[in-house]
Amino acid sequence: MKWFDYENPKTLSEAIELISKYGDDSRLIAGGTDLIVQMRIGRRTPKVVINTKAVEEMNQLTCDSSGLTIGAAVPCYKIYQNSEIISAYPGIIDSASLIGGIQIQGRATLGGNLCNAAPSADAVPVLIANRATCNVASSNGTRSIPVEDFCTGPGQNILNPDELLVSLSFPKHGPNFGSRYIRFIPRNEMDIAVAGAGVSITLDNEVIKSIHVALASVAPTPILVKKITEELTGTNLNPETLNHAGELAKEAATPITDMRGTIEYRKHLSDVLTKRALADAIKRAQGGKVNGR
Ligand SMILES: Cc1cc2nc3c(=O)[nH]c(=O)nc-3n(C[C@H](O)[C@H](O)[C@H](O)COP(=O)(O)OP(=O)(O)OC[C@H]3O[C@@H](n4cnc5c(N)ncnc54)[C@H](O)[C@@H]3O)c2cc1C
Repeated sequence: MKWFDYENPKTLSEAIELISKYGDDSRLIAGGTDLIVQMRIGRRTPKVVINTKAVEEMNQLTCDSSGLTIGAAVPCYKIYQNSEIISAYPGIIDSASLIGGIQIQGRATLGGNLCNAAPSADAVPVLIANRATCNVASSNGTRSIPVEDFCTGPGQNILNPDELLVSLSFPKHGPNFGSRYIRFIPRNEMDIAVAGAGVSITLDNEVIKSIHVALASVAPTPILVKKITEELTGTNLNPETLNHAGELAKEAATPITDMRGTIEYRKHLSDVLTKRALADAIKRAQGGKVNGR
């Protein structure tokens, strides 16, 4: 690994000052579970690494009547141990509890998962499905970006070199809301998703009040399947709903063939995972439990 300097800002303004000063020569570090690996193989060679774990705003975790805020440096274990998040945002728990294993979850963050912008990122689809927005800051002020617009290509995101992700905000969902993330991997854990589906649904009896489906590993970035929202919002839940959503997901997927799966296989998985994730989200929306939540 190449030599680098390490900065440990204690306030957000110090962190912003450092990122403004060093720009492209620096990288922020949250858990380091992507960054350190990439630095060791020379894929990233920052001259300065700026820690985010000591900045208060990046460590906030609040879940109340106005919604949920997760600081960019909050590790996964703090998220899945939070009883309010477990009951109000179970889909987020699905993702936070499957990234890596226990050791990784002790350090890794949803913010890092998003900023790393892997097409296979396991947290991003469910952030999109939960309508999360990114709170971004720089010396020029702050801006808010929907998560679905954040990743711009494999390993690339919309942040300017002098910007950082402070936190993620989630709206409060109404009653009869359910959400779910599932992925397909060839083993039980610790693998990169061949495909993943993060979904959310709100029901008013049998009417779909809102529905969002986002997919991982089937395009250069995680994608929101807009056609599902457009075509199914306001319709009645019926035996054809899931099949139709699955078909639309399959159409929206533009995967590549690689060592993990072929184009055809990933398109098929987009259909199957969308149907299964929606079935689970509907169960949750109707008051049932999936995986104990
Ligand atoms: C053994 C192992 C298993 C893994 N399993 C999975 C898995 O199952 N699913 C999965 O999706 N991933 C997995 N990963 C990858 C990784 O753990 C996740 O992507 C994790 O969520 C990254 O979070 P982090 O906090 O460690 O990010 P970091 O490594 O700290 O940062 C990731 C990137 O984001 C940037 N960054 C961090 N914070 C900010 C910020 N506030 N503002 C701007 N940029 C920022 C960094 O500069 C870096 O480029 C695994 C990794 C390992 C080593």
